[in-house]
Amino acid sequence: MNPLPQNSQVVVVGAGPAGLATALSLATAGVATTLAAAPHRPAGLSRDRRTAALFNGSVELLRNLGLWDALSAHCAPIAAIRLIDDTGRLFRAPEVTFHAREVGLEAFGYNVPNDALVDALSARAAMTPGLTLHATAGANAVKIRAGCATIQLAEGDELAAPLAVAADGRQSALRQAAGIEVKTWDYPQTALVTWFTHQRPHHGISTEFHRSAGPFTTVPLPGNASSLVWVEEPAEAARLLSLPDADFRRAIEIRLSGLLGTIGEIGPRAAFPLSGLTPNAFAMNRVALVGESGHVLPPIGAQGLNLGLRDAATLVDCVIDALAEGRDPGGSAVMQRYSELRAPDVNGRITAIDVLNRTLLSPYLPVHLIRGFGLYALSAVSPLRRKIVQEGVQPTSYVPRLMRPGGLNQLQNAAATARLASPA
Ligand SMILES: Cc1cc2nc3c(=O)[nH]c(=O)nc-3n(C[C@H](O)[C@H](O)[C@H](O)COP(=O)(O)OP(=O)(O)OC[C@H]3O[C@@H](n4cnc5c(N)ncnc54)[C@H](O)[C@@H]3O)c2cc1C
Repeated sequence: MNPLPQNSQVVVVGAGPAGLATALSLATAGVATTLAAAPHRPAGLSRDRRTAALFNGSVELLRNLGLWDALSAHCAPIAAIRLIDDTGRLFRAPEVTFHAREVGLEAFGYNVPNDALVDALSARAAMTPGLTLHATAGANAVKIRAGCATIQLAEGDELAAPLAVAADGRQSALRQAAGIEVKTWDYPQTALVTWFTHQRPHHGISTEFHRSAGPFTTVPLPGNASSLVWVEEPAEAARLLSLPDADFRRAIEIRLSGLLGTIGEIGPRAAFPLSGLTPNAFAMNRVALVGESGHVLPPIGAQGLNLGLRDAATLVDCVIDALAEGRDPGGSAVMQRYSELRAPDVNGRITAIDVLNRTLLSPYLPVHLIRGFGLYALSAVSPLRRKIVQEGVQPTSYVPRLMRPGGLNQLQNAAATARLASPA
């Protein structure tokens, strides 16, 4: 079967938040793009009960895409992050609170409901010139030919472009088809998510109780409400998942020890078994990995989607620069540059979070001592605190243009100079 007639430079597969952000960013910057994905489900259907704490670079990307003003009504600022050692162990770390104002910011970022984000991205994608939406039940495979990646869809048709983006999640069919190998592992932990209202204000503080089964984290939502990520060993998570609301409410109150006062309404619960994934390359054979096709990590430190959005913004830089210089956007130089830019950011965070998580799970006293000393140093040494906070929020080594104020104009100018195809 012949490829469908279309002239996209890039085909993005998968319409989770990372895929939508990638397709929209490319098209908005001026790169003709096709998004191959299942059609968006009607608004109001609860698809994803998670929220994502998005740091300022991610918020800047949403601002550059013109989405932030409408989205911000659903989000709450995170002015501080408090870590409390609730392990009950002999050697406990001191409480540490990082304030955004320590690094000259009003907030580290905002807590954004995943559904609201996907709704906003999907609505904008449907009306963005240069972005073609191709409804499919799924992409099954990719064939790499000279100058072209051809994606085979479940319906039997094909889409072809110089570059394919695998944004099809952790089981990515496209990644496998491109021959990119991954290392995967499981943690003996499940994350339970929900939201709840509470009597006392959260004052914009996200609190992580570090417990020996994993963290119990509240993140501010608008008003007196917070989202909750409660990590437990799987059998306990299953028990909590099946508790009647009144008992679950009481269980939250016990864990919070009165921090947010009486708990009111609680939302529906969902469970996510925790695992990790790293690839041996972030791009290869005309396929670039974006979002969870390229990295999976536990929900500690709110890194996952922030990484996914940095993937999107970095890929846009690589593609625009290649096109502006008359180079192939899916060629090996672009594959290598994207991989080299993403590897330190992704791998560094996966390692740090893995170590932090394992120090919680470890039964060994020396490990608790090292962790306690590390957090003590963080609480006491200001320059170290500032460095950790700055790096936690955004790597300083490379900030993609869409994550800088006014970055979209720079990209659009580069695209216009190169006379990129941008169908109206
Ligand atoms: C409990 C929990 C809390 C979290 N909190 C935070 C946080 O505070 N901050 C943060 O930054 N991150 C957080 N994360 C991580 C964040 O939720 C994920 O990184 C993000 O949702 C992944 O988005 P994605 O688009 O990469 O993947 P997905 O959302 O999995 O999207 C993949 C899409 O591809 C589609 N697809 C799959 N296969 C195919 C195919 N063959 N063809 C076409 N389409 C296909 C799927 O249907 C789906 O729509 C958290 C994660 C968990 C588990």
